[in-house]
Amino acid sequence: MKTSIFGKFSVLFTTIIVLTSVLSCVLMYNFIEKYTIDSRREDMCAAIDDLEVLLIQYMVAVNNGITESGEWSSESAKEDCENKLQRFKERMEFYYKQLDSHIYLSGVDGELLFSYPYLPNVDTLDAAEYLPKTVYSKMIVRDAEGKAAYYFREKKQYYMGDSDEVKVDENGFSESLGDFYGLYSGYDVSVFTVSKIIYFTYPDTYIPAQYGKITFCASMEEVAQARSTMLRYFILSTIVAIAVELIIILWVTRRMTRPIREVEYLTKNLAKGNYKSKIEKTTNDEIGALIDSYNNLTDELAKLDKVRSDFIAAVSHELRTPMTTIRGFVDGMIDGVIPPTRQAHYLNVIKEEIIRMNGLVNDLLDMTRLQSGAVQLDIQSHDIIQIIRGVVTKLEPIIKEKDINIMYHFSCDSCYVATDRASIERVLINLIQNAVKFTSNGGKIVLSVKRNDNNVLVSVADNGIGIASEELPFIFERFYKADKSRGLDKKGTGLGLAITKSIIEAHGQTIKVVSKINEGTKFTFTLQRKDS
Ligand code: ATP
Ligand code: MG
Repeated sequence: MKTSIFGKFSVLFTTIIVLTSVLSCVLMYNFIEKYTIDSRREDMCAAIDDLEVLLIQYMVAVNNGITESGEWSSESAKEDCENKLQRFKERMEFYYKQLDSHIYLSGVDGELLFSYPYLPNVDTLDAAEYLPKTVYSKMIVRDAEGKAAYYFREKKQYYMGDSDEVKVDENGFSESLGDFYGLYSGYDVSVFTVSKIIYFTYPDTYIPAQYGKITFCASMEEVAQARSTMLRYFILSTIVAIAVELIIILWVTRRMTRPIREVEYLTKNLAKGNYKSKIEKTTNDEIGALIDSYNNLTDELAKLDKVRSDFIAAVSHELRTPMTTIRGFVDGMIDGVIPPTRQAHYLNVIKEEIIRMNGLVNDLLDMTRLQSGAVQLDIQSHDIIQIIRGVVTKLEPIIKEKDINIMYHFSCDSCYVATDRASIERVLINLIQNAVKFTSNGGKIVLSVKRNDNNVLVSVADNGIGIASEELPFIFERFYKADKSRGLDKKGTGLGLAITKSIIEAHGQTIKVVSKINEGTKFTFTLQRKDS
């Protein structure tokens, strides 16, 4: 299946957005609970400390106000006690409202001494404001006689010391999160509780005794609410973010892929040979680079196309001229225009033309094979000086014919290079032939070899007609012949240097030329040095 860039980007960015949302949601989810609990704990502890003070004040008053016989010592003592108890209860109500918590005062055995909201009278259940039924119904306990009272049933709910399950800190506080060991099991949300053990020192013993425990239970409803609100907002903002993201991606990818689509369309056109259309470059990024490459490619292809048609034109021209000549002579013989006595001469001319055409076709084939890499070079270590001398011996007849003076400038007696012998001989033949061809009788050719650290420089220099500077860039092209040489060399096809360059490049080496008109020309090529 074809997936568009838009599709890929959409999936990628949507995944990123969803992942970050989920991650922040999880973090917030936990943070909300921790933050709420931290702030509640602080408020509850302060409230419990406050209630503890009031409670102890009340108990001190009771202790002082009641005589050994169990009677109130005075009316004012009784009143003072009642006032203190009233203040304790009022403060409890205040905290109940302010902290939205259920508050319990329990004894050492778990008996409920007091609570806010109230525990209903077990027999009449007629008090105005009760704790929820799911809570108080779990606390009713009847004794053997059927008398009912309220108790925390689970020891952990009223446990007075430090244990594995109930941890009490150095200030006597313990806390839990959940259903307060079963008491709030009917609730959907968890309940956070903070308890503190109350100690009271009876004046007769002077030993602090455990009196009971004050417990605050607050439902974490707000946490649940905050969480669900947060979740809603997160889902909403994620959806909005995804929608915005998709619009942006759509816009960006459309902008981004427009040139790509254009390239795709134009490359199809390119295949049909339309090299003219160019793409306008609008950005400086990778796409811009792609457009540059495309535009360069069309230029290169157009050039190649031109080279190809020029080449075909040149080949046909090169072949047509001798064939026209041959045809003219053959017609002349058939028509009898050429008398039988002259036929032998013309047949020789025809033979020469055929040999030349054959040479041309072979050269073309060789060059094509060299350029396409189809020729396997047999690279061996050879002494280039020996090869040069051998080539000069082969070319002696044409050198002698023009009375050319050959000079050698060798920096060593023998100089080994990595080369394919036959090919490099051909290079030297081409270069020396050219030098002879384009140098006047009695001229001079200097053959030199210079050994460097890595390579060896071989050059063929003459003091012939030279090449005009504007023609120098083209002399290695196939069929190229400089204007000045045309008159001199009618037979040359202009393939010699193209083949030479192909061979040197197949060796992974380079060839250069310097020339001055009427002063001479020097070709220099490199070869890889071998030590033996
Ligand atoms: P071919 O080598 O195929 O017989 P050619 O010699 O004309 O034909 P190249 O050897 O490719 O072709 O040379 C291309 C052209 O470069 C020549 O026609 C000539 O104009 C110029 N040239 C090459 N060598 C020299 C030189 N030594 N001095 C002056 N001109 C040269
Ligand atoms: Mg030549």
